Amino acid sequence: MNDEISSLGCRVPDYDVIIVGGGPVGLLLACLLKQQGLRLRVLERRVESIAHSAAIGITPPSLQILDKLGLAAEFIAGGVKVRDCFVHGQRGRLGCVSFREIPDVNRFILSLPQVTTIAILLKHLGQEHVESGCEVSDVKQFAEHCTVRAGESVLTARYVIACDGSRSCVRELIGMRAPVHTYGCHFVMGDFVDRSGFGDEAHLFFKDTGSVESFPLPGGQRRWVVQTDTRMDHPPAGLVSELVRQRAGIEVSAGDQINESVFTPRKFNSERYYAGRIILCGDAAHGMSPIGGQGMNTGFADAEFLAAILCQDDSLSLLPAYNRFRRKAVKTAIFRAEWGMWLGTWRGRSRSRLRDVLLKFLLCQGPIAKHMGSFYAMLTIPFNTLQRVPAASLQPRPL
Ligand SMILES: Cc1cc2nc3c(=O)[nH]c(=O)nc-3n(C[C@H](O)[C@H](O)[C@H](O)COP(=O)(O)OP(=O)(O)OC[C@H]3O[C@@H](n4cnc5c(N)ncnc54)[C@H](O)[C@@H]3O)c2cc1C
Repeated sequence: MNDEISSLGCRVPDYDVIIVGGGPVGLLLACLLKQQGLRLRVLERRVESIAHSAAIGITPPSLQILDKLGLAAEFIAGGVKVRDCFVHGQRGRLGCVSFREIPDVNRFILSLPQVTTIAILLKHLGQEHVESGCEVSDVKQFAEHCTVRAGESVLTARYVIACDGSRSCVRELIGMRAPVHTYGCHFVMGDFVDRSGFGDEAHLFFKDTGSVESFPLPGGQRRWVVQTDTRMDHPPAGLVSELVRQRAGIEVSAGDQINESVFTPRKFNSERYYAGRIILCGDAAHGMSPIGGQGMNTGFADAEFLAAILCQDDSLSLLPAYNRFRRKAVKTAIFRAEWGMWLGTWRGRSRSRLRDVLLKFLLCQGPIAKHMGSFYAMLTIPFNTLQRVPAASLQPRPL
């Protein structure tokens, strides 16, 4: 036992759970733990809210989790319900992925900016559970508890959950390996005032010169995402509008652009999701291509699973189940995101033609087309909600 901890003697830890990172996953986990009556603290290094939103698509399984907190109605009221996603190939429309008949009460993907998701969760949790401007620099663990250092202060808790994003410092501190694979694809995205006339529809354009994806946002806005040859950290002014015009034939005025960001998809899956009492959750545990919109939703499912475990007396003995089931679910999500991006980013005439044939087949064959809605709504990811995990796996067992 080191000096720091021997000086604590056998004091009860300050908290049951300390969550490092107040992004969407950390805040959702905190709300779920608060509902179970656990003593918790979220430590977040940011002081200001995030400048722009990455995630926008919230899937039906995530809405089920939010419903447990009584928040689904507020989320749905603030977002746009996307019921149809139209797919266009080289010579016009190939078909549609429809969510109208998926087996769920919510037959749509909800489009809501991540900044609003964070704001709703924060309001529900209560600011008193969150310490902002608090950057965690060290974590240590002992037989019965952990210590977390942020600045000059050291807090103690039974568990520390790393929700500190893809470049997780907690993951580094515990030496958990998470080899990163980068794809050779790059994208620029911008949110615009929406004058497309597409309403609440999503549209994907797969062309021989690159892809264009378009999603409605609340407040009369629309997101356009364009594939680029190289990573463009400083894209020339009007690039998104120009590529949308060239590839999709749609006039989007550069003057209507509200923001812009650049991303290069990567993937990783940590070799384990916990070490002792320190647990990884959300982007700290895994990363996947944003094309397909699954990262935050996958983190929400991690949080639901973890919350159900942490409120049990013998929670430590259930962590192997968290590791096993969530890693399996994440593997599937990573593969699907990768597959979708791979197909959508094929370039050149002959590959585009082949893609058109393949997509037309998938989107026009009744049973397959019907399945596509459930597939993209993440209803067919294994263990995507607790209901799908065998109950026996959540019963404490000897370590
Ligand atoms: C372009 C793009 C589009 C996307 N679209 C979607 C989508 O439609 N649907 C979807 O499900 N996912 C989407 N994603 C993925 C989604 O944005 C992430 O999966 C999600 O943000 C992960 O949430 P998180 O809370 O795990 O991590 P983060 O959002 O990264 O939050 C981590 C938090 O931890 C804090 N932090 C970091 N280090 C420390 C520290 N040392 N001490 C204290 N605090 C710390 C950070 O400030 C941050 O607030 C998209 C991603 C991108 C890039």
